[in-house]
Amino acid sequence: MLKTLDDLLKEGVSGRTVLVRADLNVPLDGDRITDDGRVRAAVPGIAKLAEAGARVVVTAHLGRPKGKPDPAFSLAPAAERLGELLEQSVVLAADVVSEGAKSTVAGLSDGQVALLENVRFDPRETSKDDQERGEFARELAALVGPGAAFVSDGFGVVHRKQASVYDVARELPAYAGGLVLSEVEVLRKLTADDVDRPYAVVLGGSKVSDKLAVIEALLPKVDKLLVGGGMCFTFLAAQGYSVGGSLLEEDMVDTCKGLLAEAGEKLVLPQDVVVADTFAADAQTRTVAADAIPDEWLGLDIGPRTVEAFAEVLGEARTVFWNGPMGVFEMAPFAAGTRGVAEAIGKSEAFSVVGGGDSAAAVRQLGLAEDSFSHISTGGGASLEFLEGKTLPGIDVLERS
Ligand code: ADP
Ligand code: MG
Repeated sequence: MLKTLDDLLKEGVSGRTVLVRADLNVPLDGDRITDDGRVRAAVPGIAKLAEAGARVVVTAHLGRPKGKPDPAFSLAPAAERLGELLEQSVVLAADVVSEGAKSTVAGLSDGQVALLENVRFDPRETSKDDQERGEFARELAALVGPGAAFVSDGFGVVHRKQASVYDVARELPAYAGGLVLSEVEVLRKLTADDVDRPYAVVLGGSKVSDKLAVIEALLPKVDKLLVGGGMCFTFLAAQGYSVGGSLLEEDMVDTCKGLLAEAGEKLVLPQDVVVADTFAADAQTRTVAADAIPDEWLGLDIGPRTVEAFAEVLGEARTVFWNGPMGVFEMAPFAAGTRGVAEAIGKSEAFSVVGGGDSAAAVRQLGLAEDSFSHISTGGGASLEFLEGKTLPGIDVLERS
């Protein structure tokens, strides 16, 4: 039985220490957070616990440090932003489970919040060895002491069998946070047999190989699968078109041929693309038909006719899932496709879900209204794995505890 944060609050947390696994893996430019969406998503759970008088110890990771402390991957910017949003100071421990963490936790009073340093500074966090991870999880549990509880609220990491996500839930009474619950509820709607139709899925991003499993899992369920982004060129190549210097996964061409045959009219590819002579914001650009990409030019966005065609499908849909930008939206000349598709989804009456780290960042960076979507998922890999029908270890362990 899955116990929830609300169950824990009913039990009472005043004076208890609660370890919260959050997802604070934000994009940084130096020590400036460029998109604080994940920090904001972590706030409600932490605030509820603090308001109820818990001593809240948050654990999270940032990037991929190599299993040892590295100031470039410090959670300091996240601690500061979290403090601003919670309107109370958040102490950042000097380390993960050593002396710094111990003294920080010992210094907490009821209702205060501390953040442990990047949990991936300890190599055991991501170890493939169950015993190593188990030992580290026991140290995390010991840090918060007897009587403590664990709240799993980092949806972006629940697909990882890692110590602070999976193993620690076996060491402490474990509860699902509100973010994890709401994400799962939304994703269940997208995989339900009685999904509201027409059901359209828009996929983009860089690689077909990253999204192959989700394409295969969703194809039988959807009415339309619209493909843009870097991955569309492998499909266009599978149709026999030349794609110039565009992103191409040669070893996936046969797989894409198979998918095109299986999908028939369900799968819609771009009619036109924006091509550039180099991969740069100040490149020369042109819009060309998808079957007329000049040699050596790179397709970096879908074209306006494609946006229109996609928008028509999206306008009629009752359920929409979108993952992966339609172009290299980070550069202004190649952002129109992503913006056009996002606006079409925003305008539609459909139940609409955006999944994927870069897609969610695109919505915010392009200044699109976040509330025009029904849900913006905080977890890229986790939401895709859920839609693929995989068991997510971080949720499975909560269901078993
Ligand atoms: P998400 O994180 O939303 O799942 P991905 O990580 O799969 O998305 O892909 C995002 C990246 O794909 C972006 O950085 C974007 O620049 C890139 N991309 C989109 N279209 C193209 C393209 N035509 N050529 C090269 N890269 C592309
Ligand atoms: Mg990504």
